[in-house]
Amino acid sequence: MEDSHYYDVIIIGAGIMGSSTAYYAATRGLKTLLLEQFDFLHHRGSSHGESRTIRAAYPQHYYYPLVIKSYELWQQAQAQAGYNVYFKAHHFDMAPSNDPTMLAVINSCRENNVSYELLRRDQVADKFSGRIDIPEDWVGLSTEHGGVIKATKAVVMFQTLARNNGAVLKDNAEVTDIKNDGGVVVLTKSGEKFRGKKCVVTVGAWVNKLVKKISGVEIPIQPLETHVCYWRIKEGHEGKFTLGSSDFPTFASCGKVTVYGTPAFEYPGLVKVAVHGGNPCDPDKRSWGPLVMMNELKEWVEGRFSGLVDSSEPVVKQSCMYSMTPDEDFVIDFLGGEFGKNVVLGGGFSGHGFKMAPVIGKILTQLALDGETNEVDLKHFRIGRFNVASKV
Ligand SMILES: Cc1cc2nc3c(=O)[nH]c(=O)nc-3n(C[C@H](O)[C@H](O)[C@H](O)COP(=O)(O)OP(=O)(O)OC[C@H]3O[C@@H](n4cnc5c(N)ncnc54)[C@H](O)[C@@H]3O)c2cc1C
Repeated sequence: MEDSHYYDVIIIGAGIMGSSTAYYAATRGLKTLLLEQFDFLHHRGSSHGESRTIRAAYPQHYYYPLVIKSYELWQQAQAQAGYNVYFKAHHFDMAPSNDPTMLAVINSCRENNVSYELLRRDQVADKFSGRIDIPEDWVGLSTEHGGVIKATKAVVMFQTLARNNGAVLKDNAEVTDIKNDGGVVVLTKSGEKFRGKKCVVTVGAWVNKLVKKISGVEIPIQPLETHVCYWRIKEGHEGKFTLGSSDFPTFASCGKVTVYGTPAFEYPGLVKVAVHGGNPCDPDKRSWGPLVMMNELKEWVEGRFSGLVDSSEPVVKQSCMYSMTPDEDFVIDFLGGEFGKNVVLGGGFSGHGFKMAPVIGKILTQLALDGETNEVDLKHFRIGRFNVASKV
């Protein structure tokens, strides 16, 4: 094999997780290769589009340190790049007052000393000057840790920084096999062969297509087709929902339907509101529709925004995929079996991983290079929690 085909670490999949991993691996002086099956920045996975929410109010307390670290790392990376991908906002959660997720978020804020305001309906109306209305038996929770990350721009940023630090990036390079030879041998559909000491697999919704083939292990990660929807703010009210010029927050809501969204930003006059969830799909045979719980979402838009946003139909719809685990926690672990610690897996980001991509890239790099991480206790993210065993 030519010298140019030997790497310290080969990362498979150039969504946000693979791209951030390539950057952190390259900054640690590793000879790094990032392989992507489609064109870079394609729209067939999970990391494309205009925006993702970042928030620290999480029902599971163990995400808080990861999010706080990520705020810092987003800012460091954008300082390196010379442009911004993170834009600050407050965050607002709303739910029935006895909703278990809301109660868990309140607990986790307490546990992590996150300052928050817990608001009744009239207090919510006051705080947002009538722009948000919750039912009488709901509560709202406001924290300062919110914000929007520009999604595709963030992927570009990490790919550019990775390249600037010496990584090699190749697209239209579908990996068809990974073999163990003491290190790893990575084979592509077009017949190329790369050798690496370590390999990081960040293939999003395609995880079981590749991982099952190489290890026999089937991890319960379900690809879901989901949609981002943008809704028109009624004439004369646009400025009230705009990021920056108003105090409108990023938001999430539990109840009959789980909803999340961002202030008007990427498309002037349109606010993003979408359902957290989707339809099971095969990532290579997508139906590109239909949208889930659209009637409930319309009702939510009409009710929660006091009739100031046109709820008749979203004006922009974009399709995307979640990689959903049964507990909605990530999978960050060594693949094990014959690969031991040589293949690291980052997947199952379950519709909420983007915000933490910098710290996840750092962790995946540490696992590949050091065999361990000091950023987080991996017990919540191990493959073993699903009771699957390597068949190799
Ligand atoms: C609609 C939507 C809204 C979201 N909102 C938020 C949010 O507000 N906040 C938040 O934090 N998170 C959010 N998320 C989740 C977040 O976007 C994902 O967790 C994240 O993008 C996952 O990135 P990834 O790199 O794992 O997957 P992907 O972006 O899918 O990247 C995997 C890549 O691997 C490539 N690949 C696959 N197989 C191979 C192979 N064999 N060889 C080579 N390459 C391969 C794929 O082509 C793909 O480019 C949202 C997700 C969606 C879909």
